[in-house]
Amino acid sequence: MTQTLLVINSGSSSVKFAAYDVLPDAALQRIANGRIEGIGSAPRLRVWGQSGEPLEDRRISVSDDPVLGPEEAFEALFEWLGQHAAGRTLGAVGHRVVHGGELFTRPARVTPAILAQLAGFTALAPLHQPHNLSAIRAIASLYPDLPQVACFDTEFHTTQPWVAQACALPRQITEAGVKRYGFHGLSYEYIASVLPDQLGAVANGRVVVAHLGNGASLCAMRGRRSVSSTMGFTALDGLVMGTRCGSLDPGVVLYLMSGLGMSVQAVEKLLYEQSGLLGVSGISSDMRTVEASAAPEARQAIDLYVYRIAQQLGSLAASLGGLEALVFTAGIGENSASLRRRVCEDAAWLGVALDEETNQAGGSGARCISTAGSRVAVWVIPTNEELMIARHTQAVLQGRGAHDWRSGRV
Ligand code: AMP
Repeated sequence: MTQTLLVINSGSSSVKFAAYDVLPDAALQRIANGRIEGIGSAPRLRVWGQSGEPLEDRRISVSDDPVLGPEEAFEALFEWLGQHAAGRTLGAVGHRVVHGGELFTRPARVTPAILAQLAGFTALAPLHQPHNLSAIRAIASLYPDLPQVACFDTEFHTTQPWVAQACALPRQITEAGVKRYGFHGLSYEYIASVLPDQLGAVANGRVVVAHLGNGASLCAMRGRRSVSSTMGFTALDGLVMGTRCGSLDPGVVLYLMSGLGMSVQAVEKLLYEQSGLLGVSGISSDMRTVEASAAPEARQAIDLYVYRIAQQLGSLAASLGGLEALVFTAGIGENSASLRRRVCEDAAWLGVALDEETNQAGGSGARCISTAGSRVAVWVIPTNEELMIARHTQAVLQGRGAHDWRSGRV
């Protein structure tokens, strides 16, 4: 029997998943990936095979009830896996969990006690944590004996120096855990693991990785370790995102509540769900839609998006004392040539010189898009958070604690 690992990245209304076979030499091979969309309304299961070929695309329904929650959605997913996994046994499920707080600095096999501790971080990641945990709960109630492993987006940043993590607040507040954690760690960890293959010796130099997706952040790395990030205590800080505002004067929050009489819930909704590209453009949180619009508000939303990246790139370069490489990743970073061009133009003062032809050429793999003479190497490297989660899950199952991505072993 081949052991298979399932990876889950669970959001508010959709669940992304991937299944990996553990090969005889312990390497992982992705056999399928997919998503369940429309949870809580009209869920749909979509699955693609090894080479991206569509395997399934159907409505999930139980009797006549089209409105299903996460438990029914996972039931449908496991049923599909059961029907298509002859000769395989499911060894474990690995989950992306956005916030591990100060307690979790390594992937952890989930127990009821750990689940309760993770629930304590819900207020710190309201857009993600409840959905990450409800996936774990739903699967535990269906398969109580199936090992589940939580992999944290905060973990990669635990190497940051004290000054990068500290908020200038009184000691007792910092000691209560109010500090800068940083996020998108599974994506950065994957990029750090493949950097030497692409960048050679520069990989261990001063590198900024720009994870530009629905959520967006920058991470400054030296020696492939995080030294600073634009995200902080929560995943609200830093860059402009799809629906999140990024950096904001904390006085604005006080004014929204005391001056405009908004409740905590209303402010939370405003900052996490109604701001960013969506709030500024008034059109969409989706970069493709905003880029396609000729409305002046859409232009301004992109101007602000680029301005903040350029500004914070300068800030991270300062924390590194220079810059040798810039890496773009995630949905926007990997796919929007015009966005990359604009960021690189603004970063010319750092020594960035883009080769516009290779930038425009596209492609699906890792590629260098700077000129031969550029002082800063600019790369596009597709991220793979799912593989990172699968590797950690495999390591936890084997009692190794965490996947040692620096060893180069897969
Ligand atoms: P992610 O969260 O990594 O899946 O990224 C989602 C974001 O990537 C959305 O804002 C999409 O609009 C954006 N995106 C995906 N493909 C493209 C593209 N070809 N051009 C511009 N933005 C894109």
